[in-house]
Amino acid sequence: MKEIKNLVNGSWHSSIKTWEKTSPFDGRVVARVHEADKALVDEAIAAGRKEAFGAWGNMAMPQRVAIVRNMAQRLSARVDDLIEADMADTGRPYWQASNFDGRRATNLFEGYCDLALGLENRSKNFVGPAGFEGLWISQRRPKGVIACIAPWNVPLLMMVLKVAPALVMGNAVMAKPSEETPSSTSILAEVIAASDIPDGAFALLNGFGRDSTGSFLSEHPDVDAILFTGEPGTGSEIMRSAASNLREVGMELGGKNASLVFEDADMDLAIEGSTRSVFFNCGQICFCTERIFVHKSRFDEFSARLTHAGKNIVIGEQNHDGFSIGPLVSKAHREKVYSIVQTVPKEGGEFLCGGGIPEFGDARDNGAFFQPTIAIGLADNATMMQEETFGPVAHISSFDDEDEVIVRANNTRYGLAATIWTKDVGRSLSVSQQLRVGHVWVNSWQIRDLHSPLAGAGISGVGEVGGRSSLEFCSQPQTITVRVK
Ligand code: NAD
Repeated sequence: MKEIKNLVNGSWHSSIKTWEKTSPFDGRVVARVHEADKALVDEAIAAGRKEAFGAWGNMAMPQRVAIVRNMAQRLSARVDDLIEADMADTGRPYWQASNFDGRRATNLFEGYCDLALGLENRSKNFVGPAGFEGLWISQRRPKGVIACIAPWNVPLLMMVLKVAPALVMGNAVMAKPSEETPSSTSILAEVIAASDIPDGAFALLNGFGRDSTGSFLSEHPDVDAILFTGEPGTGSEIMRSAASNLREVGMELGGKNASLVFEDADMDLAIEGSTRSVFFNCGQICFCTERIFVHKSRFDEFSARLTHAGKNIVIGEQNHDGFSIGPLVSKAHREKVYSIVQTVPKEGGEFLCGGGIPEFGDARDNGAFFQPTIAIGLADNATMMQEETFGPVAHISSFDDEDEVIVRANNTRYGLAATIWTKDVGRSLSVSQQLRVGHVWVNSWQIRDLHSPLAGAGISGVGEVGGRSSLEFCSQPQTITVRVK
């Protein structure tokens, strides 16, 4: 069986505590994973501090970028292994694994190398009160040790979004993948271990969250900043530990994203986009649409067409050549999705399709599959309209006018993203400005430049990440003022 160990100070460490990672596709064991205990986390952080405030952190940017670029090239050479690891951990189909997580993660490394090289220092000449003439230069120094705690839904990409900016800016990285998806990050660690990066500057620490590796990291006083993606509840727990030592946090959290389909929408485009935004990755993308509001004049047409699409989605065929979905990430996650879906009939709603667990009559029945589900008839405050399901599940409501739908779309504590379907450009801009979310897509979904800023409103995020914002988060501004005259 594949063994996944921890990488600390250049060496692979096993542990007496291990767990078996199983596939959500058919329940088979994928790997035995070694849990990093507190002593190992302490050792990794101590080694990291030496590098972040030593050779690695002080290295000239072009030299450091050359090392990171070389990692990106080595990672690209492992793309087939990354696809296999991703499919084993998540059960997702090949078409998706081959286009999404690993390849985008590799490109992201290169992108951060380019951005970091283009980063310029700020400077200004000035005259002080007593005629003193000076010049200040503000440059960005490493922040120190950065804990990168990732979720399972797009495992490598979510990790690289943190690791790449942290490394190029000269920090030491403590990478903690989700316990559900350790495999692709362990390949990243192999690649980094084979690169010219100093040993202590990167550690792979596997484990769980509370009372395990995750909290050993987030509670550690020598971790200087935490980059986290996951659930808002976990985010607030991490923020509490960070508060005790006044560490900075950057957080991308959940969503309860609305889609607004206006009377003038291009319906073919809206159906194609909504099929992806509801069902892609089995609904396990933070930007997935979970609440759809359709103008009353198009409600029947839209509902019938999206239901038709939902009923015809291919499920659980990893080699199907076209849009299809895999399972949810685990049976535990399926329990959560199912418990929310079961509130639909109790709270006055009904299903147009799905609502339950599919049966295959083979090994896939040991997996964590869920039917593509569309519901209608719920009030805006119903459980499924307020709780993030993170599954292939959405509710469709109808609306009468623009002012009404804006209020209803904003009726959530989340504020991650929204989608607008209309041919009226002016309306798309004016409605966007009234939606309390970090990202709005107009007549599209999930077409995203990963260097654009991302900041969730409400409980969907803390701080801003993406591109230059991530480089700034991962560095400490230092101003030097020199007396000129
Ligand atoms: P999660 O919060 O359960 O876990 C995320 C990570 O945090 C895991 O590595 C976990 O082990 C760790 N963790 C858990 N408790 C911890 C603690 N007390 N201290 C330190 N670490 C801890 O989230 P998940 O279930 O893996 O991911 C799904 C969630 O992530 C959804 O809410 C989804 O919307 C969100 N998400 C958001 C974005 C975004 O960009 N906004 C992207 C992807 C996923």
